Amino acid sequence: MVYQANPARYQAMEYHRCGRSGLKLPAISLGLWHNFGDETLLETSRQLLRHAFDLGITHFDLANNYGPPPGSAESNFGRILREDFLPWRDELIISSKAGYTMWDGPYGDWGSRKYLISSLDQSLKRMGLEYVDIFYHHRPDPETPLEETMRALDHVVRQGKALYVGLSNYPADRARDAFAILQDLGTPCLIHQPKYSMFERWVEDGLTNLLEEQGVGSIAFSPLAGGQLTDRYLNGIPADSRAASGSKFLSADSITEEKVAKARKLNEIAQQRGQKLSQMALAWVLREDKITSVLIGASKTAQLDDAVGMLSNRHFSAMEITAIDAILNG
Ligand code: NDP
Repeated sequence: MVYQANPARYQAMEYHRCGRSGLKLPAISLGLWHNFGDETLLETSRQLLRHAFDLGITHFDLANNYGPPPGSAESNFGRILREDFLPWRDELIISSKAGYTMWDGPYGDWGSRKYLISSLDQSLKRMGLEYVDIFYHHRPDPETPLEETMRALDHVVRQGKALYVGLSNYPADRARDAFAILQDLGTPCLIHQPKYSMFERWVEDGLTNLLEEQGVGSIAFSPLAGGQLTDRYLNGIPADSRAASGSKFLSADSITEEKVAKARKLNEIAQQRGQKLSQMALAWVLREDKITSVLIGASKTAQLDDAVGMLSNRHFSAMEITAIDAILNG
């Protein structure tokens, strides 16, 4: 069936300004790291994207290496975009990244100008786009001069191949240096994409304050810790879950008793608040309005409904925050 976007799609979603830029992002964004490669049925991926957009999720996050195999998430997304979303291209924020291993040899990894510019050209071809809205350097490169990487980001904006640029996984000190270089080049950094959840709080040690001070937005990836901050693993490992899929990023062994015990206690607080653990975990990431958007993954459309349902109950009392901290630090 030909896709028709839901006319009510902008009613429930919140849109937050990304740092001091002109761009607003949905409070919830959808990442295509899992469930969009060739191992997933195209129709499943299509339903996820349609459902997300119908809920006002206007931001889809990709990277050159998403799959498996690497590149296939962009190719599949490109096909769905062409078949379903072309009339709505200007209502979408599409991002891609380069920084992890993508092709053999010395030019398919890290942060050289050679790698970034050619990788973005490949991504655009796979997705059938003339430009991405945001292009990220995916991880810091200890060897390439920061100036070279930032000049490559500035260059793709000047070429019209990206509207904005971002950094991912940069620690605060390196991010500060990168922001200064980009500012001097005239292409201010739009956004930083760090991992942040109740189980992974490193950004609180300087990065979020830096982003606020510099007027750079932030989008927290894996805010559900890949599913560990949901009700998925409270009673074992379901056969259709990421941890059962043989993922090297969330093995069954990593679902430890200690984490499950914490998730169960957190789940009790969520129940007292009248919401699911996954909803409380997302609300918690957004709690101080320092994070622009939570970047979730989803294997089922109902998970998108859960995420958006969080918006009607996303504030915490001081007592709840203290109780959550006690569980996380326990
Ligand atoms: P999450 O922490 O949101 O985990 C998503 C997974 O949690 C889902 O696939 C699903 O797993 C489970 N889940 C989601 N909602 C629910 C729910 N309501 N109830 C039960 N289970 C639920 O994020 P991801 O780790 O998937 O990462 C999200 C995005 O972040 C990526 O797609 C990518 O865009 C970005 N990212 C960026 C990185 C970077 O280096 N910049 C690195 C990693 C991710 P299940 O399959 O078990 O149903």
